[in-house]
Amino acid sequence: MAKKELGYVELEWTCPHCGYKNPGSTTVCTSCGAAQPDNVQFEQPAQENLVTDAAKIQRAKAGPDIHCPYCGARNPAGSATCSQCAGDLTEGAVRETGKAVGAHRPQAAPDIACPACGSLNPANAHRCAQCGSSLAAPKPAPAPTPTKSKAPIWIFAVIGLVILACVAFAVLSLRTEEVVGAVNDISWERTVSIEELQPVQRSAWYDEVPASAILGSCREQVRGTQDNPAPNSVEVCGTPYTVDEGSGFGQVVQDCHYEVYDDWCSYTVDEWQEVDKARANGRDLNPTWPQPQLLAGQRAGGREENYEIVFNADGRAYTYKTSDENIFRQCDLGSRWILNVNTFNAVVSIEPNN
Ligand SMILES: [Zn+2]
Ligand SMILES: [Zn+2]
Ligand SMILES: [Zn+2]
Repeated sequence: MAKKELGYVELEWTCPHCGYKNPGSTTVCTSCGAAQPDNVQFEQPAQENLVTDAAKIQRAKAGPDIHCPYCGARNPAGSATCSQCAGDLTEGAVRETGKAVGAHRPQAAPDIACPACGSLNPANAHRCAQCGSSLAAPKPAPAPTPTKSKAPIWIFAVIGLVILACVAFAVLSLRTEEVVGAVNDISWERTVSIEELQPVQRSAWYDEVPASAILGSCREQVRGTQDNPAPNSVEVCGTPYTVDEGSGFGQVVQDCHYEVYDDWCSYTVDEWQEVDKARANGRDLNPTWPQPQLLAGQRAGGREENYEIVFNADGRAYTYKTSDENIFRQCDLGSRWILNVNTFNAVVSIEPNN
């Protein structure tokens, strides 16, 4: 993410002693004369105008101010001694910098009415032009606690019931009991898929389209983002915001990146597709693979095997399905097995009853 500078604005600070709002460049309260303490933060004015005065811009760029270790007064960066008490500033506290104070406010802010005489003053004025009273806004009301959106209670009830049902299902399917049964019936089925090269539609970035493909239409899409410009890129920037520079000024910046566009193309390519299945099945213990009759341009693809064993346990029939040929071959008719049966009467696994 690259930062783009739009300029500097003068911040302001509120005197903790008299409540007067002072311009950021002022280190001592214009109203009562108290120095700005190091724990009083700079704030955004109602309307932020980019500073054009060269001296102010230099002050803004100079770096964070230093508070005198003896009297606490704020001194511009680079000062060696305190302007108020002449103390050595080497050990002074450097103001914090880099904190985003809020979205840049370039829009004209509405005039404010003087709390004393009621006459209107520009939003950034600090003192009433009519009567000279401080225009500092009365202490802001405490931020309203975010009201939690109240989802109807029944939504929670439904979610609760669904979770409960899932847990119950899982518990019931996992709980098994053992039943001894004898093999009553067996069957098997094996399939081999028959595949043919057929054209299929795919899409990919232009440089990733296989050489053998027939190219379809392409359109530009964002392939990635980066900090630096590139051919075929577009700069995208976020909302400008103001960063406290610790000097009474704020730097207005924007986070920007480049969206790099590339061609996303559809193409047609030949891929092996299943067109048919060769099947073999039987009711014995010797399953065999089917021999597919392949036509020109066809090949044998994936194989599948499925075995089904029906047990009789105390007059009740249980069906066990598996793809394990080893187990199946041991299921001689009449042989006895321990069946692990879950609550839904499904046979989960079987083992010989020795
Ligand atoms: Zn004051
Ligand atoms: Zn001092
Ligand atoms: Zn007034």
